[in-house]
Amino acid sequence: MALRDFSHDVSALALNTATLGHNIEDHGAGWPVEKVIDACAARGLGGITFWRREIGTRAVEIGDRVRGAGMEVVGLCRTPYLTGAEAPATLDEARASVEMAAALGAPVLTIVTGGTEPGTKGVAESQKRLAERAATLAEFAAPLGVKLALEPLNPMFGGNRTCLFTVSDALAICETVGADNLGVAVDVYHVWWDTGLATALDTAGGRIFGYHLCDWLENTTHMLLDRGMMGDGVADLKAIRAAVEGAGYQGACEVEVFSARDWWQRDPGEVLDVMVERFRTCC
Ligand code: ZN
Repeated sequence: MALRDFSHDVSALALNTATLGHNIEDHGAGWPVEKVIDACAARGLGGITFWRREIGTRAVEIGDRVRGAGMEVVGLCRTPYLTGAEAPATLDEARASVEMAAALGAPVLTIVTGGTEPGTKGVAESQKRLAERAATLAEFAAPLGVKLALEPLNPMFGGNRTCLFTVSDALAICETVGADNLGVAVDVYHVWWDTGLATALDTAGGRIFGYHLCDWLENTTHMLLDRGMMGDGVADLKAIRAAVEGAGYQGACEVEVFSARDWWQRDPGEVLDVMVERFRTCC
């Protein structure tokens, strides 16, 4: 199947508001949600992915506003950690994040797993517990119409932030759980190095629930907050998208650029303009 042609069509492009610094307190230009929605609609984007901290108690209102502007809510970031020392003792907050996604009309809620379980070494035991908790959460989310996307992270985030490093492992957990609404989010930043990605995606079936765009800067200066805009780094964006679309994915391409030293310093209008241009030419 031929790759989708984005050179004159940005309807598959979505903004993850982290690209404007909106996921972290005291970062970004501080645009209100309404202004972000209008700026995305004006540029012809297909949708937006939000972070829970932006939504608060306004999920229904914000979701309606996005749809009223002719776009879709693509997703919500994210559940609290399900494993590791920082994971809440119960799934209550995770269930609340599912309810927020449902109220917002976000079809997909991302799971960043959390780190290695206290008292264990490696990732095998943590992945077992992750599967149990993801199964419980998926059962809760199904009747609310919310899909859960396990997002494997770059291995450098192992320890305190994730116990899931590859799409292959994420798909294995989906297989173990066997819930229709549990799948995987593929993020360029986390998978660009993985020479087994295309092979893993061959077995994905319909389990790819999200595709996140950015770039890996050749000389990155911060592992969390120095992502590159598409085209500025060394990730093979076309090859990754070919693998993702080869697995049947035809959904939104969500730009997620955490960039404290560069893009978050710029006017959001400029960031969005560059994002659109790079999407059309580099992705
Ligand atoms: Zn991501």
